[in-house]
Amino acid sequence: MNYPVDSIREDFPILKRMVNNKPLVYFDNGATSQTPIPVIEAMNRVYYEFNSNIHRGVHTLSNLGTEAFEGVRRKVAAFINARHSHEVIFTKGTTESINLVAYSYGEACILEGDEVIISGMEHHSNIVPWHLLQSRKGITLKVIPVLEDGSLDMEAYKQLLSPRTKLVAVTHISNVLGTINPVKEITAEAHKHGVPVLIDGAQAIHHEMVDVQELDCDFYVFSSHKMYGPTGTGVLYGKEKWLDKMPPWQGGGEMIKTVTLETSTFNELPFKFEAGTPDYVGVIGLGAAIDYMEGIGREVIRRYEGDLYAYAFDRLSAVEDIRIYGTAPVRGSLVSFLLGNIHPFDTGMLLDKMGIAVRTGHHCAQPLMDRFAIPGTVRASFALYNTREEVDILVAALAKVRQLFG
Ligand code: PLP
Repeated sequence: MNYPVDSIREDFPILKRMVNNKPLVYFDNGATSQTPIPVIEAMNRVYYEFNSNIHRGVHTLSNLGTEAFEGVRRKVAAFINARHSHEVIFTKGTTESINLVAYSYGEACILEGDEVIISGMEHHSNIVPWHLLQSRKGITLKVIPVLEDGSLDMEAYKQLLSPRTKLVAVTHISNVLGTINPVKEITAEAHKHGVPVLIDGAQAIHHEMVDVQELDCDFYVFSSHKMYGPTGTGVLYGKEKWLDKMPPWQGGGEMIKTVTLETSTFNELPFKFEAGTPDYVGVIGLGAAIDYMEGIGREVIRRYEGDLYAYAFDRLSAVEDIRIYGTAPVRGSLVSFLLGNIHPFDTGMLLDKMGIAVRTGHHCAQPLMDRFAIPGTVRASFALYNTREEVDILVAALAKVRQLFG
């Protein structure tokens, strides 16, 4: 495959560093991806050239900032093919986006006794906000079961939909199993009952071609720091028809039209949901991250990562004593495993000694760990700069870990 991985790696200075006297192999991309120079430079440029609070100024610097910030909103809208740029709300990340929907959509559209459907493979970010809604409003949470191979039980899902269902909230790609869920089908099924769907795209936005109009989902959420952008920034996409119905969830500057000491009226979309000074530097960094991915080509990245994943899955499957979690027919981007009886923390610590960064533990998905009756897994998750050679280093390191534990 003619993919310029060497020159891509040059864009990520951190990949050159040593860890415990070994060259870094970074396989913790599912938690946070690394940041390329053009993104770092785009954010530096704000501080060097036009730092100033956006939206409310009449002066040049403020206008430059506002233009850059609103330009990213249009860029994000194009990236996910949203119908309108005002359907893109900037948040702190996936977690805040889901909390916004749980609070605001929950306030406007969900009553006591109503039901929300999630799945058994959700990140805590897509479980706990619904628990909070449960205690606020007395809703019932229904859960789509996870099958042994790590796919969702779609027949059970269809049975769960009822006249009391007010929302379905599921992950696009599991951060533990790598399962790519049939989110288009899930959405179509919910829509037959008039039920809107929220898709947690935290693990998908940088791997899949996400087209919210094609998926026809009602909400799509993701974080910038998992897609080569900075931390502290993320997106809530919502269909205008829902966002219009939803009340603001935080009050403050920017989200109002008028304020008297007695009452306030609220701004239009998207500002209604963006109280206070936004992380405009982070958003501009997110815009640069989108440019970076588009510069390589999203389909090109997808093919490269698909090939790397297949290679990693094959090589890891052949490691003695390994148990891989997540073998659904449609999957990608990460491999979760346990090695013999070795605790995942021990495996992770020994790999770190060999310069390899993986994630270990429950991955903020404790119900899924309970489902498989395990304390956690070791997770190697891949990005556009990883290589087959790095996979080989991991495989050799795992053989050493096995030896050390006898
Ligand atoms: N959802 C999924 C599937 C995730 O993998 C993560 C982070 O790992 C989140 C939500 C939370 O993302 P953030 O911490 O950026 O809000």
